[in-house]
Amino acid sequence: MDRPLRIAFVSEHASPVALLGSQDAGGQNVYVDEVSRSLAQLGHTVDVFTRRDDPDAPEIVEWSPGVRVINLRAGPAEFVVKDALWPLMPAFRDAFLEFAHRDGAQYDALHGNFWMSGWVVAELGRLLALPVVHIFHAMGKTKQLHQGLADTSPDGRIEVEVGVIRDVDRLIAQCPSERDELVADYGADPSKVVLIPSAVNIERFRPVPRTEARRRIGLRTDELIIAYIGRMMPRKDVRNLVRAAALLAQDVDVPFSVLLVGGETHEPDPVSTPEIGVLQQLAAELGIADRVRFVGKRQPDLLRDYYSAGDVVVTTPWYEPFGLTPLEGMACGRPVIGSAVGGITFTIEDEVTGLLVPPRDPEALAGALRRLLTDPQLREQMGLAARARVEREFTWSTVARRTAELYQSLVPSAAPGEAQAGGMLLASEREG
Ligand code: UDP
Repeated sequence: MDRPLRIAFVSEHASPVALLGSQDAGGQNVYVDEVSRSLAQLGHTVDVFTRRDDPDAPEIVEWSPGVRVINLRAGPAEFVVKDALWPLMPAFRDAFLEFAHRDGAQYDALHGNFWMSGWVVAELGRLLALPVVHIFHAMGKTKQLHQGLADTSPDGRIEVEVGVIRDVDRLIAQCPSERDELVADYGADPSKVVLIPSAVNIERFRPVPRTEARRRIGLRTDELIIAYIGRMMPRKDVRNLVRAAALLAQDVDVPFSVLLVGGETHEPDPVSTPEIGVLQQLAAELGIADRVRFVGKRQPDLLRDYYSAGDVVVTTPWYEPFGLTPLEGMACGRPVIGSAVGGITFTIEDEVTGLLVPPRDPEALAGALRRLLTDPQLREQMGLAARARVEREFTWSTVARRTAELYQSLVPSAAPGEAQAGGMLLASEREG
């Protein structure tokens, strides 16, 4: 039988602790949280290394049984935007080495998240002679292509990504389109790339009867609701949904409204979330301000009520490396309309669990909405198929099992403690 492993997750900007509401948290935070806890349930132990961004945060947080979050000192102990973190990575690497030596932890493998941590784990893998698995979560070339001048990634990101792809042992792709990006756009060795689709917590995200969900969050029960849940930023193109709703309002003889959940703060605030201001103005210009309801950010535990309050869930980003929110909507038993980009083409089964539409196309979205809003039977059928699909294909326990198998394929069968004593040794020390 495979032995239990000790894994170091490295995730410089996305900590599971941020899910408790300290700052905007997206899919990477969820991935790190769910995969680490699910690995622990299989008997492995995980330390999640992240950058300390709060002076009051302890160095070690006992996050859940078998999972610790380690806040490393690298740069100021305050929030620093992601795109300004790159110069802090050498200090982050050194802080890892210092901690691991002091703590005496013997890791079997390193698992990097995002391109900057990719550089860190590639460095650490070389210095400590440990196997390295990496998942990018997003690729610089794709971001550059879609965001152009709005892309604030530091210079050199793409060169760093190329080096990470060359140096690590295995790359996890979350969906076939990410594997294609790695191989076709970056020239990754296809044998290094392992497809492990991400997933959804099917206990947390579960169907709630529509009226019950709406009653709990204070919404009317006598109208149709189109729900968007996710970060409020231009690339998610919620503007596309507002434009489609305006088209729909002209020709659909049913009362409907649009529910928008997300943003930097609990109350929707156009100052702290400028995209909310843009959307409010757009809705007013299109004459549908009374149909668009802004909710603000909500904690993951509450989101099933927001998804379930919807008759249909929509997400039409310009591009999407994977996209957890379509899976969350599906897990809540709702049909999801998504743009046919990236991971969404893999998670939504077109015409079965929802509908795929071209991105940046309000008319196509309005057409898809019209079809679903006027056909309760189709919505019901797709919602049931959606839930069945996530139960079958997209659970975190499956992700953890496959990720553990990947580690086991890379680690020697002897426990690290049998090969070395004391704290982490640098590869050079071990050889000497
Ligand atoms: N999310 C949340 N509260 C909100 C809005 C979003 O917890 O108010 C979560 C959402 O449930 C999902 C994650 O943020 O798990 C977004 O992940 P996704 O992969 O869809 O997009 P990303 O933000 O990583 O681009």
